[in-house]
Amino acid sequence: MLVKIAPQHAESSAALILANARCLGLEARAMSDGVGGIAIGVSGDLPDGALDVPGVTSVIRKHKPYLLATREIRDTPTLIQVGDVTIGGPEPVIMAGPCSVETEEELIEIARMAKAAGATMLRGGAFKPRTSPYSFQGHGEEGLRRLAHAREITGLPIITEVMEPDMVEMVAHYSDMLQIGTRNMANFPLLKKVGQAGKPVMLKRGFASTIEEWLMSAEYILSHGNPDVVLCERGIRSFETATRFTLDLNAVPLLRELTHLPVIVDPSHGTGKRSLVESMALAGLAAGADGLMLEVHPEPERAMSDAAQTITLDVLERIVRRGRALVELLNGQPLLDPTVTSLITA
Ligand code: PEP
Ligand code: MN
Repeated sequence: MLVKIAPQHAESSAALILANARCLGLEARAMSDGVGGIAIGVSGDLPDGALDVPGVTSVIRKHKPYLLATREIRDTPTLIQVGDVTIGGPEPVIMAGPCSVETEEELIEIARMAKAAGATMLRGGAFKPRTSPYSFQGHGEEGLRRLAHAREITGLPIITEVMEPDMVEMVAHYSDMLQIGTRNMANFPLLKKVGQAGKPVMLKRGFASTIEEWLMSAEYILSHGNPDVVLCERGIRSFETATRFTLDLNAVPLLRELTHLPVIVDPSHGTGKRSLVESMALAGLAAGADGLMLEVHPEPERAMSDAAQTITLDVLERIVRRGRALVELLNGQPLLDPTVTSLITA
């Protein structure tokens, strides 16, 4: 059951409904409705008497199973703040960087170049989930230190993957945003842990997961106390082997209908092919994504992992330029001048 409470009664009435639900042995969670009121998701139906509190504006008994992620509980888009960057607002967010954190010098060079090309966040894996146990597994904590150093120099907030529940605290200590990779989308102990990490989380879609399964995973994070969840479409397995994965752009407008959470598109993993990344990045923005995740390297062939899908900084610059023009055209209004944005955030 979903219950919405008007702003003037929000706190006191929400407390009563939560207490009533818990007395009946039901799970209940409250969240902001984005317009001053409170929305409550309850894991079952409350009797009418338990809802007899001031300010209840609507009660929905038939709804999606993801109580907090559903758009039915909150019709206003969720905005997520990562440092100076807002995810889910009018400005598309560009997360760019190498697949794996490289040497300190190289990472800093990439971060500087990515920023100059228009990136707004720096990505890079320190703990890498590799198909082969013999492949490079990432630089671990030293990689996190390098990311933090690159942030210090460029001011770009950082996002990096965490793979194990026991590592969440350490990764959250260094990183501005936590990434849950496709292979861990349904690692429920990990999702519960990042639900308590106090940092925004980007949840990548499992490559063999349905949209409903994906939203249920988001629900794990939300229901454990973290309202800052971003979804990332990164391609799914299909019968097609000509590309590494099949980027499911249907997911973007569909998620807009189903959830208030922001959506990022990752055309690097979604295609696995450098030559396709620009087209699919623009297609992702045209489909309505709030931003992109892109793997970049000054010499892509030398990247320590995912070289085949890594683009140059020139291509990144072109994606940002063309992507912003596309978003302006679709929105019918100009975006902020990036030079002004960088002055504001400097
Ligand atoms: C990555 O972002 O480098 C990564 C490993 O992504 P995914 O989990 O989508 O494969
Ligand atoms: Mn990668």
